[in-house]
Amino acid sequence: MTTTAKAAELRHPEKRNRPDNPIQRKPAWIRVKAPTSPVYRETRDIVRENGLHTVCEEAGCPNIGECWARRHATFMVMGDTCTRACAFCNVATGTPMPLDPMEPVNIGTAVAKLGLEHVVVTSVDRDDLIDGGAAHFAAVIHRIREFAHGTTVEILTPDFKDKAGAIEVVSAAKPDVFNHNLETVPRLYPTIRPGARYFTSLELLHRAKRLDPNVFTKSGLMVGLGESREEVHQVMDDLRAADVDFLTIGQYLQPTPKHAAIDRFITPDEFDAYATAARGKGFLMVSASPLTRSSYHADSDFARLRDARAAKLHNADTR
Ligand code: SF4
Repeated sequence: MTTTAKAAELRHPEKRNRPDNPIQRKPAWIRVKAPTSPVYRETRDIVRENGLHTVCEEAGCPNIGECWARRHATFMVMGDTCTRACAFCNVATGTPMPLDPMEPVNIGTAVAKLGLEHVVVTSVDRDDLIDGGAAHFAAVIHRIREFAHGTTVEILTPDFKDKAGAIEVVSAAKPDVFNHNLETVPRLYPTIRPGARYFTSLELLHRAKRLDPNVFTKSGLMVGLGESREEVHQVMDDLRAADVDFLTIGQYLQPTPKHAAIDRFITPDEFDAYATAARGKGFLMVSASPLTRSSYHADSDFARLRDARAAKLHNADTR
């Protein structure tokens, strides 16, 4: 066993019995610079001082140097331990700690210190909690509004499977963007996202829009896991039928040898073709590139999203 495989087993003991999948060398179009900027260090210090977790670090996101140099960190609430064990995700699985009641205040404080115009908040899955963590999500949104006036809030939630009333609680806190990632095509759910159900996730997005027609809904897909182009197009159609506004598509990158293997690297031209197809299907916004992640450039994309909706409404009025 390689050193990386051993390190992966320590972090992911639940994946011990999985076969090792050697990590493939990345192609030339997937290259990121090492983080060196002083602003990157400032962002890291604010995260540490407030005892917060970020998905940027927990998921080993390749964009961290670029995002944190722009103070754009995605906060991960409700701890650093997830109750699910998805085959693509680097977040540790296990029995999570109780919720920290100070976390909403700490997030609000950090967002204010960072001076963010737009913030993304995500979480681990908390199947152990009776409401899946919905009330905690709502509290985080309220504290951000209290401490950081004018900051727009994007949430990236779990699927709240079997948690009746959870979506309603989160929606009532009025996030600006309600994001939930489908992650992959339905055929691959049993291997890639075994604890989730494709139609539960789709219904969550549809319900979020029905509860608040003004909210922007958003979802993301990873490609390179063995899906076909036709399957991706079908997912786009399903998302449009659920009235989803914004689609992100990025290359799956394998975090450790204990995670799902990459089937292939999708070329930049193929990403462009996906973006063209998605726009043709009526999404207000599409971001598709090898390094796209659901929170990548979320701040500037939110401004474009608002403009796109305003333009659409204007065009409808003048017809
Ligand atoms: S893309 Fe998202 S998760 Fe990755 S570093 Fe940027 S903000 Fe963090």
